[in-house]
Amino acid sequence: MNSTTICAISTAPGTGGIAVARISGPEAIAIADKVWQGKPLANAATHTAHLGTIIDPADGSALDTGVATVFRGPRSFTGEDVVELSVHGSPWIQRELINLLIRQGARLAEPGEFSRRAFASGRMDLAEVEAVADMIAASSRAAHRIAMSHMRGDFSRRLSSLRDSLIELCALLELELDFSEEDVEFADRSRLIALAKDIHTTVDTMARSFSTGNAIKNGIQVAIVGATNAGKSTLLNRLLGDDKAIVSPIHGTTRDTIEDTVEIGGRLYRFIDTAGLRHTTDPIETIGINRSVAAIGRANLIIWVIDPTAAPDTKTPRHFPDGVPVIAVVNKADLSRSEVPDFSQATATVRLSALTDTSLAPLTDTIVRLTETDTTPADMMVTNARHYQALTDAAASTARAISALADNIPADFVAQDLRETIHHLSTITGSITTPDLLSHIFSHFCIGK
Ligand code: GDP
Repeated sequence: MNSTTICAISTAPGTGGIAVARISGPEAIAIADKVWQGKPLANAATHTAHLGTIIDPADGSALDTGVATVFRGPRSFTGEDVVELSVHGSPWIQRELINLLIRQGARLAEPGEFSRRAFASGRMDLAEVEAVADMIAASSRAAHRIAMSHMRGDFSRRLSSLRDSLIELCALLELELDFSEEDVEFADRSRLIALAKDIHTTVDTMARSFSTGNAIKNGIQVAIVGATNAGKSTLLNRLLGDDKAIVSPIHGTTRDTIEDTVEIGGRLYRFIDTAGLRHTTDPIETIGINRSVAAIGRANLIIWVIDPTAAPDTKTPRHFPDGVPVIAVVNKADLSRSEVPDFSQATATVRLSALTDTSLAPLTDTIVRLTETDTTPADMMVTNARHYQALTDAAASTARAISALADNIPADFVAQDLRETIHHLSTITGSITTPDLLSHIFSHFCIGK
């Protein structure tokens, strides 16, 4: 248990209706009482809120009226005694309140220190604490759903059941070891292989979900590509409902990539308007074109805008990477009544007018359909690069164990690979961790989290 009591403003910086200062530690209630005029918080029951006045005990002057909420450890976020003081959200009041608390003996919390204490007291495991940060950062329904599931421990329970299966597998192998001197292959290896394969399938599915999970968390990357003047910027502005990109009939107007995010069908999409891919001697446009090619390389989906009134665009499809779905948008439907040709390079074709159509639903429906392909359930979906790395390592050591079992390698070598898998999985929930790793993780949190 920590001997120091920490404090910080836990609400967002700036002016707000209210701001909340959080105090946590053995002296939390005593320190809050020193600046509190009202019913003594020392006598307050846990999980109760009280109206009172925040005062400076040095001269008795009132800072604000506010509400104190008392949580007695271990039934609090950090597992320690916690008081939350809600005051009016002026930045000046917030600063004065923190200074007051520090003068009464609290220390300003470090980034993520409340969460770190929650982890240290066993209130939450590391994956759950990280999910709280994801929850705070969630910017779409899909990202929120995954963060919520992980924060409630579904992901951790999945990992814990994997660990149980691994421990069972190790126990079966040990039986084999006990009898090895008598040269008896006690356990049936085909059964062990089947068990190990089940574990591998789950671990591998979780690791593979990262590309989708990461896209859900940070936005699914959609590159809008095509010849100059096809209508890419017009389409981007319509998708974003904003005049983000400059629209002009002058070829090469979009010289750099322009991007922004928008939520469609509960998922966050990051649309990137790219410079038209054409031959140019303009050095600035060349930089833009190189950036466009890089954006195409990172894209989860490509929207290829085609102007049917212009010469056929043969250059753009050369840059399409394998395996990335492409929607051919035949634009300027208000000008051209020609039949939509079949674009063999595209996964789907949509005909529209970015300029005059009142609804882009045919396109947005297609976008959702082509990007909602991963059906991994939320409790197996990985959105965190650290978890992805650990699961990839766990999948590799499990695969080694499977081939060792198949090759009749002695049980102690197989057990070594399985123990390595357990180790990698344990680093995710933090049952195996190092102070350096914890400092690294929590330093990315804000003060007050
Ligand atoms: P980009 O170079 O591909 O980004 O193309 P822009 O979005 O800048 O558009 C080039 C020109 O085509 C502009 O004058 C737009 O107003 C026009 N334009 C774009 N979409 C349409 C459309 O659906 N119908 C018509 N008639 N004009 C369009």
